[in-house]
Formats: sequence, structure tokens, C-alpha cells
Amino acid sequence: RKLNYDNLTGLPVYNYFAVLAEQYISEHSHESLYCVYSDFSNFQYLNEVYGYGVGDRVLRDYAEALEKEYDKGILFCRVTSDHFLGFIKGESTEDAWQSYWKFTRAFCHRINQYYDECNLVIATGFYALKDTDNNVAAIMDNANEARKKCKEQRVSTTIFIYTDEVKKEVETTKAIVANMVSAYHNKEFLAYLQPKISLKTGKIVGAEALVRWIKPDGSIIMPGQFIDISERNGFITKIDFMVLQCVMEYLKDAISKGEEVVPVSVNFSRRNNEVDNFVPNVVKWLDRYSVPRHLLEAELTESVFTADMDRLSANIEALREKGIEVSVDDFGSGYSSLNLLSRVSVDTIKLDKQFLDDTLNPAKGETALTITKYLIKMLKHLGFKVLAEGVETKEQLEMLKMADCDIVQGYYYAKPMPIPEFRQFLKRFNQEEA
Ligand code: C2E
Ligand code: MG
Ligand code: MG
Repeated sequence: RKLNYDNLTGLPVYNYFAVLAEQYISEHSHESLYCVYSDFSNFQYLNEVYGYGVGDRVLRDYAEALEKEYDKGILFCRVTSDHFLGFIKGESTEDAWQSYWKFTRAFCHRINQYYDECNLVIATGFYALKDTDNNVAAIMDNANEARKKCKEQRVSTTIFIYTDEVKKEVETTKAIVANMVSAYHNKEFLAYLQPKISLKTGKIVGAEALVRWIKPDGSIIMPGQFIDISERNGFITKIDFMVLQCVMEYLKDAISKGEEVVPVSVNFSRRNNEVDNFVPNVVKWLDRYSVPRHLLEAELTESVFTADMDRLSANIEALREKGIEVSVDDFGSGYSSLNLLSRVSVDTIKLDKQFLDDTLNPAKGETALTITKYLIKMLKHLGFKVLAEGVETKEQLEMLKMADCDIVQGYYYAKPMPIPEFRQFLKRFNQEEA
């Protein structure tokens, strides 16, 4: 009994629960069954403020409350720390999730009233069993996947129902993860280049390298589909360096052929900050291809500036010391934008596309315009080069010219394109504009 049941709550431990669940499902197969996976948010805070003893009591309380609410007819376990998994019955899906949801909210409300310093929330993934379901692990996975969706929502979502859409998303993610490593070895990740145009000279003065996953059948997977995933599992650093390698190969070849070249920026994910030797590795690639340092720029997205600031500052300093310029990408998309400016020294600020989109929105237009204009003014006053991303229309371009923005990048001039195409484009464009 000691091995099969959790000391704290008296519920079965996960491994034993999995065995019991099989039997439970077969016994109740004629009824409507639902699998729920719940976890507490802000539980750590409760532990820290009121002590672990109180934390333990709340977990025990939850197990008891479950039993009281659902009688003996249910099966639950504590998976780990503050995660609970189990099966409930219900007349319909709607009934079942509503009643469980109400129960979790009432529980949190009661605890939060008593321990008024904390704000416990329970996030639940909910899965309605199908007649054909017989694999317990798969059922529990589905409820768990739905739970993870709660965390992805912007407003704090406290229940998420597993749907065919979630299923498809999970399958796509799994396929991407499974194929990523072999795709990397097959060199399926390539850099596309998008030109950056100086508003003063009207010439191309730079380019941004953007990754594209080109499958052997020629189909293209856009970064939106794999950057987040690879950022989560850390694989992104490999992709970033593959893009860097593409850029180095291009620049070396172009220089050797006497073509005009412009600095190319590469996006470096925040995960690079966790890697030792990040900057020396970047420099190694430049040296291996004998590419002058000023031809590389490192783009760091604004969100990275909430990470380990000491390490980040040291990396930025090291890059700039080596002659590699640094830019802040997607500036203005987060919450820390302005106070970030006084904490780091970078060369260029890339204004998030949202600024331009807002100027076109009738409801926000006038205000957005004022903000954008004065923001550019302020950034330039602080000594930054300012680039506006996502320029799509002539009106936007004119506005940016008036605001004295330095550089623009966007579909108005060109979309990101394969490197050979970019080489032609650069030549033609800069000659025509001359
Ligand atoms: P980003 O670095 O802010 O790149 C700009 C994105 O805006 C690119 O999307 C680009 O194609 C798109 N864009 C440029 N001009 C316009 C425009 O006028 N209109 C619109 N609607 N979009 C425009 P893309 O290539 O899909 O990349 C999306 C994001 O994925 C990038 O945003 C970047 O955060 C990330 N990413 C792309 N390549 C890499 C990479 O090699 N490494 C890392 N770590 N992240 C990458
Ligand atoms: Mg970028
Ligand atoms: Mg950007």
C-alpha cells in the first residue's frame, strides 16, 4: 500500500493509477467518461509565503474535496507536485466540464479567501473519452495536451477542452520535432534574404537573413511553424548557426567575385545566451570564411531582454567589441521597451511592424502616428539607428521619411527571397537607383 499510494494525499501514485485506470475504463465503458488533468498556478508562491506545511495541507484538501464532490465513483491520482489527473463521469460533455470547472474555481476561491496573500488558480485540460479509446496513456496525454493549451492563452484560461484542432496541432508539432534533426543534417534549413533600404540614399544598405525549411519535395515550411518549438527544446541555436553558415558562404563567394555586398543581419534566439562560447563561435564562422566583421549584424529580439541581463550585456558587448553590430528586433512589441534603452548599448533599433499597422487603423491612426514619429525622434536623439519593419505602402513610406527614419524593410520593396535571387536584386536595384 505504501508503494502504491501517495503519502500526502492518499491517492494512488501515477504508476498504480495507470493500472487502475485500465480496469476503470473497461468497467465504465457504457458511461460517459471524461479525463481531467489539473495543475495549480502560483502554487510556488503559496509555498514560499505560507510555508510548505500549508502547501501540503492544500494539496491534501484538494484530494479530499474531490472525493466529497464526486463520491467514491471517481478515480484520481497526484501525478507530481501540484498536478492531479483523473476520470470523472457526467451526463454530457458540457455538464461534465462545467461542473468540474465550477468545483475547481470554488476550491481556489475558498483557499484564496483563507490565505489572502495568494492567488491560486487551477488550470485544467479536459478530454471526453470516445468509444474507441482504449489506450490509457494516450487518453491521459490528450488531457495533458489540453492543459498545456491553458497556459498558452493570453488571459488566464482555467479550463481547455481537447478538440480535433488540438489533436491536429499536437500531431503537427510531433511531426516537426521528429523531422527537425534529420532535416538539419540534410541541410534543409536555408537562409532567405530581405533587403533593407536607406531612406536617405534610396539604396539597399543591408539585408536580413530569415530561415526557411525547404523540404526535399520543394515545399516550404515558414518559421512561424517551427521557431517556437525549436526555441522550447533548444534546437533553435543549431538553426541559427546554419543560417549564419549560409550567409557566410554567400558573402565569401560574392566577395571573391567582386560583387557589391551589404551587411547581413542574422536572428539569434535568446537560447544562444545559455550556451557558452556563443560569441567566439560566431566569430569563428566569420574567420573561417574570411568575411569582414562589419558585414554581420546580430538581431536579438526584444523579449530576450528579460532574460539573464548580465550574460546578455556581456554578449552584446563582446559582439560589438569584435566589430559585429547589434540590433534590437521587434522593438515595442513587449512591455519593457523603454526601460531597456537605458540598460543596453546596441547599434540599431528595429521598430515592430505593429507601429505601422496601427497608423493604418482608423481608430488608432492619429495617436499611432504621433507615437511613431516621436519615438523615432527620441531613438535617434539617443544615438540609435532606426529601422522600420513591415513597410507595405507608399503612405507608410512617406510618413517614415517625414519622421526621419533611417532604414526601412518590407514588402513594399521586396519579400524575403532565395540568396541567388537576392544577388540579382541587389545588383539591379542599386544600379538603377544610382
Ligand atoms: P523578424 O525577425 O521580426 O522578421 C521579420 C518578419 O516579418 C519576417 O517573417 C518577414 O518575412 C516579415 N516581413 C517583412 N516585411 C514584411 C511586410 O511588409 N509585411 C509583412 N506582413 N511581413 C513582413 P518570417 O520570415 O516569417 O519570420 C518570422 C519570425 O521568425 C522572424 O521575425 C524571427 O523572429 C523568426 N525567425 C526567422 N528566421 C529566424 C532565424 O534564422 N533564427 C531565429 N532565431 N529566428 C528566426
Ligand atoms: Mg529579425
Ligand atoms: Mg522583427
